[in-house]
Amino acid sequence: MGLIQHDVIIIGAGVAGLTAGSILVEKGYNVALIAKGEPTACLSTGCIDICSLDHDPLHGVSHLPDEHPYHLVSRAVIRESIEKFKESMVQMGFPYTGSPESNRYVLSALGTFKTTCLVPSTMAAAPQDEKDDLHIITFSGLKDFYPSYITARRKNASFSTYDASASTTMGLATNFEREDFLEKFLSWLEKLNIQEGKIAFPAVLGLESAATITQKIEERLRCKVFEIPTIPPSMPGRRLFNALKDYFRKKGGMIYWSWPVSGVEKTKKIIEAVTTPSEGRPKSLNAKVFILASGSFVGGGLTARRDTIVENIFNLPVFVPGQRDNWFDSDYFSLNHGIGKAGIIVDSSFRPKEADWENVFVCGGILAHTDVLKNGCGHGMALATGYAVAASCMGYIK
Ligand SMILES: Cc1cc2nc3c(=O)[nH]c(=O)nc-3n(C[C@H](O)[C@H](O)[C@H](O)COP(=O)(O)OP(=O)(O)OC[C@H]3O[C@@H](n4cnc5c(N)ncnc54)[C@H](O)[C@@H]3O)c2cc1C
Repeated sequence: MGLIQHDVIIIGAGVAGLTAGSILVEKGYNVALIAKGEPTACLSTGCIDICSLDHDPLHGVSHLPDEHPYHLVSRAVIRESIEKFKESMVQMGFPYTGSPESNRYVLSALGTFKTTCLVPSTMAAAPQDEKDDLHIITFSGLKDFYPSYITARRKNASFSTYDASASTTMGLATNFEREDFLEKFLSWLEKLNIQEGKIAFPAVLGLESAATITQKIEERLRCKVFEIPTIPPSMPGRRLFNALKDYFRKKGGMIYWSWPVSGVEKTKKIIEAVTTPSEGRPKSLNAKVFILASGSFVGGGLTARRDTIVENIFNLPVFVPGQRDNWFDSDYFSLNHGIGKAGIIVDSSFRPKEADWENVFVCGGILAHTDVLKNGCGHGMALATGYAVAASCMGYIK
């Protein structure tokens, strides 16, 4: 048995786990969050997709099938979770633009539009139609961004290349944090004498200071500037993760990194502790309540075997969308791969149905029937269910 008694242990440092954790620590609970690695947020655009089925995301939720877990959360709670998220991001210096009543576009690195809802302020000026003139700045040697994909689609777009002596998104973002680098870059940019339209950059304008750096460029050039999310590893996705993680810690939450949960200790219907094989640290951690926020397949919460799908920690019953033949559509780009529905079915308080445990709650991408790709509801669903699960846990602990 572990020595430390937490009120709540959360497994998973994604948007869902960190949202639930922050709410609980703010309410005074002793919360530890355990993660074996980085979340899918680090692979994402950093934009918050709430629901892409309608121009009004909250209206879009009403088009979702009855079994979708969004229906377990009221519209008021979805709104509250978004407001709470926006407030916390302002506090962390990484503000977001947008409202849950209206979807918008961001320009993708392929020159297409991606529908989303909330965007980091560094993408707020992204064009919403084909009209804006764009001048794209790229960096010599950067392999993750090809402006010609965009100029091939948009007639009114051109580009220039800056030699920044760094060829990775992380290397460039680190350079932008340096005052001397930014100053030299701004002098070069001024000489381009861009008179019309907006200036677009691949999303490399800094690490934690991206919002300020974007604003500085706008003020100096006196024109609108925006970032284009690049392929993973994505700087805006990483900024989102860092801001959520730092907020949780700032409020008093504790994180055990690189702590892969491999088993549990239990008594009758109660989980007492989770365990890990890692050496040189506590091998078991106990709590009154456990929140499973371990994500879907990419996050590591679910594993597909030959004929079935398993949940890796509590061995919870998993909704499996039929035989393996039904898991994938023959069209790779289809949004109808059955596997997107796999996951844990929960009751109205987010407890797994037909499971043996009383003190386990589930949220985020591991929930059944989310179909994140098809419904465009990734981080939005993780925020809303993370927020709602925190309330359920508080009710249980009382
Ligand atoms: C490539 C990609 C791009 C995406 N882009 C977007 C986007 O632009 N906008 C958007 O809204 N959504 C996007 N999504 C969807 C979105 O990332 C997810 O739906 C959502 O963030 C899920 O968050 P989560 O917290 O439930 O889980 P995850 O982000 O999957 O996090 C799971 C966490 O659990 C931990 N974990 C798993 N197993 C264990 C274990 N045994 N022990 C300890 N820890 C464990 C992991 O290490 C990780 O920290 C994207 C998804 C992918 C895969």
